[in-house]
Amino acid sequence: MDTESLQAHDNVHPLRQEEESKGDREKDSETYPLPLEDYKRYGRQMILDGFGLQGQVNLSHASIAVVGAGGLGCPVLQYLAAAGVGKLGIFDADTVDISNLQRQILHSEVTLGMPKALSAKEALLRINSRLNIEAVTEAITAPNALSLLRAYSLILDCTDNVPTRYLLSDVAVTLGVPLVSGAAQRLDGQLCVYNMVQGEGVRGPCYRCIFPTPPNPTTVGSCEELGVLGGVTGVIGSLQAVEAVKILTGMDQRPTMTIYNALSFPPFRSIRLRPRREACIACGKDATERRARERAEGLEVTLPAVDYVQFCGGPTPDWEREGQVSGQEGERMRAGDLKQLLDNGEQVNIIDVRNPTEFSIVHLPSSRNVPLKTLLASPSSYLSAHPTVVTCRLGNDSKIGADALRKALVEERVTDGLAGEEPKAAERTLEGKGRPAEGSGADVEGIGQAGAPLGERGPVMDLVGGLRAWSFQVDSTFPQY
Ligand SMILES: [Zn+2]
Repeated sequence: MDTESLQAHDNVHPLRQEEESKGDREKDSETYPLPLEDYKRYGRQMILDGFGLQGQVNLSHASIAVVGAGGLGCPVLQYLAAAGVGKLGIFDADTVDISNLQRQILHSEVTLGMPKALSAKEALLRINSRLNIEAVTEAITAPNALSLLRAYSLILDCTDNVPTRYLLSDVAVTLGVPLVSGAAQRLDGQLCVYNMVQGEGVRGPCYRCIFPTPPNPTTVGSCEELGVLGGVTGVIGSLQAVEAVKILTGMDQRPTMTIYNALSFPPFRSIRLRPRREACIACGKDATERRARERAEGLEVTLPAVDYVQFCGGPTPDWEREGQVSGQEGERMRAGDLKQLLDNGEQVNIIDVRNPTEFSIVHLPSSRNVPLKTLLASPSSYLSAHPTVVTCRLGNDSKIGADALRKALVEERVTDGLAGEEPKAAERTLEGKGRPAEGSGADVEGIGQAGAPLGERGPVMDLVGGLRAWSFQVDSTFPQY
């Protein structure tokens, strides 16, 4: 071939692929393992040592299940789609909410209300229209997990609930695939690869090996309760995508856990993982033998017999609902009744037990901020001659605060009694001092019963449903966050 014909060929190769004849394409697919345009599209990563053409071919044949299309799942999916992973499974049963858009970067105002799996799929196809994407809007549970995830060679845990973490780990062990697990909260993140091949016949630990006992569900906060910086989910999600690519291209993988904190210096720490636990119910000796038996007998392999939700201490509390569930008769006040009292010019000691940062976002005009910890440290300092109403965002912490104040009231009375004092005649109750809002279902008579007789102390109540209820029931212009 002379120089001239080389140049002529270069003019149509490979960017003008659409102008090539079908015959040329077929010839190319015999000559090259990737479609011509992929050499240009993925060239920046293919030229990396250890990645190469084979790395790209491996990615194009890989299938990755991404469970959770939220703060972690979005960056993971974005990078894996852009990198040319052959098949992506997106598993998410949730729909897009406006509070997601601060960090879940594949979703947008246009897809509000749409299932996240479908919203993410749409966004990914805009990046890479040739992707094979399975979008599943069904929640992954123990009965369906193995059949939904069997087709994938790698599982990425991008969820934020503990039972699903255990379930996905058990699925990964059962199917014999690695699990890349990410977590992010506040300014912290964590990344770990479980069940990773470490050598001939040896695999690294599973999630259960490292965390045999689940945390108490009431101590596990979600992003909604604890907050999270969008970029932090981006950092961890991006790291998960990098780990997935390293595994699929065979570049490298060591069993470490990476911990990130945006304010620490240095921000990253790596912890070497211990080996598998012999007694692990998922990857230990007995479980491995059980699966080998199932296979030998031609049976379907099964997950460990675990009720994942019960194992993790029951369902995750719905704090908004919990905050609305009425407590003791006469110990709680509805938003409409508080409004009525304030409108009637009553003096009310409103204590807001959120932290100062949340208090500074928005609060009731006449409220004062006493963070729950401060209040619990010395509740008697916050008792008042006026009725006290304790509030917070959803009406849960306020119950704890109000209980502590009432306990302090009782202790005060006991102390008074020991000193030989008669109960004060002018017991203050709210009886007759305000009518409940129409249809609010409130029991103003009940208010005065709380802890009476009270001496020169007003009754203590908490606001049902917290400030969110205030926004819904009293003042729709009061911001919710
Ligand atoms: Zn294990």
